[in-house]
Amino acid sequence: MRFSKCYVKTLKETPKEAEVISHKLMLRSGMIKKLASGVYTYLPLGLKALKKVENIIREEMDRAGAQEILMPVLQPAELWQESGRWDVMGAEMMRLTDRHDRSFVLGPTHEEVVTDIIRNDISSYKALPLNLYQIQNKFRDERRPRFGLMRGREFLMKDGYSFHTTTESLDDEFENMKGAYSKVFERCGLNFRPVEADSGAIGGSGSQEFHVLAESGEDEIIYCTSCDYAANVETATSTINHLPKAELLEVVLKDTPNVAKIEDVVEYLNVPVEQTVKAMMYKDMATDEPYMVLIRGDFEVNEVKLKNIIDTVDVEMLTDEELEKYGLIKGFIGPYGMDLKDIKIIADPSITEISNHTAGGNKKDTHYMNMNYGRDYKADIVADVRTVKVGETCPKCGGKLDSARGIECGHIFKLGNKYTKSLGATYLDENGKTQVMTMGCYGIGVSRTLAATIEQNFDDNGIIWPSAIAPYTVDVIQANMKDEEQGKLAEEIYKELLNNGVDTMFDDRDERIGFKFKDGDLIGFPFKVVCGKKAAEGIVELKIRRTNETIELSKEEVVKTIK
Ligand code: ATP
Ligand code: MG
Ligand code: MG
Ligand code: MG
Repeated sequence: MRFSKCYVKTLKETPKEAEVISHKLMLRSGMIKKLASGVYTYLPLGLKALKKVENIIREEMDRAGAQEILMPVLQPAELWQESGRWDVMGAEMMRLTDRHDRSFVLGPTHEEVVTDIIRNDISSYKALPLNLYQIQNKFRDERRPRFGLMRGREFLMKDGYSFHTTTESLDDEFENMKGAYSKVFERCGLNFRPVEADSGAIGGSGSQEFHVLAESGEDEIIYCTSCDYAANVETATSTINHLPKAELLEVVLKDTPNVAKIEDVVEYLNVPVEQTVKAMMYKDMATDEPYMVLIRGDFEVNEVKLKNIIDTVDVEMLTDEELEKYGLIKGFIGPYGMDLKDIKIIADPSITEISNHTAGGNKKDTHYMNMNYGRDYKADIVADVRTVKVGETCPKCGGKLDSARGIECGHIFKLGNKYTKSLGATYLDENGKTQVMTMGCYGIGVSRTLAATIEQNFDDNGIIWPSAIAPYTVDVIQANMKDEEQGKLAEEIYKELLNNGVDTMFDDRDERIGFKFKDGDLIGFPFKVVCGKKAAEGIVELKIRRTNETIELSKEEVVKTIK
């Protein structure tokens, strides 16, 4: 590409709306342009870089055995009603109505659509496992679109979905994807960490996020300084519908096979680091089924997530005023033989029959009618559920824990039968018996990864692209546009680089060299090849953006050195 022909307009000043460095530099280097809040156009340089990230992801997905498809962005509401997410997704989902008054959704994710395909197409265990992915724009009406490409309302995602007959098969694919994701982020030249996240409700290491470490990251992660342990503490900065701060949360579990431990629920609270919550889980004596969790502490509740993960859950956080409204009295739990002084209990407001009596002399007690502890239910009590804190020892190796900011660029999940069950994705097993499929899902924010790359690679002068993602690897600069020798050599080297498959820009603009350097630094080409004073001898200068080194080379050595 010749710079003189390239559609790029660099800016000296940083547009006011940009807060983080990637947003500032992408605007200044003419890579993106804002259309509306959280909605951007990719201009040629930005699109080239985006495509590079996309292709790395595509190559690693294909290598890992996943198959690319392309599903519609426009999705019928019925599918979301069937899965139960129509109500759960809330305001983040972009909804629209067609001329016949039918409701649709602009896909924020595609579990429903892909499961619909599979349930209609696959009937035998022989066709499984299967992993399908797509790379496509997603729509989420984020409460606070910001940071440019990092939190958009229309953004590019790679989303993949796998279907299995057994949990072992899902476990294998999860590991396979974990490996592929690590390769993607390594190839992008990023400093990243796989982080345990939201694992609770699915069990085990059911969910991993891939965080690119950067100060501007919206998430806080705790990691071990001696081993690979790392966990997302889900601080309150995420923008999913947060309910106000609560100190008492009652979660009524209705049909929740995935929830076995209190931690499974507590995982879905946004408990800040260094804080703990107290929680207890009530279980049915006969079946051992958990049916209610009470949690007390200082936290925010990520209601959407909680509802998303756990099959059916009612979240109620009652303030003193609300308690009064429901006619409930805060009380203490009866004599369970534990120190429960500061754990309050309230009754499920949907249950009208509540016993409010005075037990054990002067203790107020509120509980379900005709429910006897020990006979009908028992409680597992866990105090200080979140014990992982900075400064404490690593739960895995005993090493020292520290915290860092991270940008969530990837997220992989063992979904189990959450969608396959509600949407009826079944197959016939070896014995001809109908079984529900097991499912996993795997996302990478392509556009967010691009922005995260800049958050990690910049200096005062601009972007410092890792070669794998740079829109152009080399910027060939003719120092003096009036010098014919220089022009001839620059032209020669430009062609030679192109012939060798190196993405090259030739800055052939009639501008001073200092001006060209400034633009080159801002755009972030990993290499500049300057055809200057020694052009007549066939000697050029190679400038390395990252290290600021300058090396003199003969024209023959240029391609070899860069490749
Ligand atoms: P966040 O916690 O940042 O809101 P998420 O957990 O809602 O992200 P997922 O549903 O896990 O996101 O989607 C998979 C990936 O898509 C994320 O890991 C992230 O890289 C990307 N992503 C999600 N939301 C956005 C957004 N608004 N803009 C750009 N990329 C996004
Ligand atoms: Mg989100
Ligand atoms: Mg997240
Ligand atoms: Mg996520």
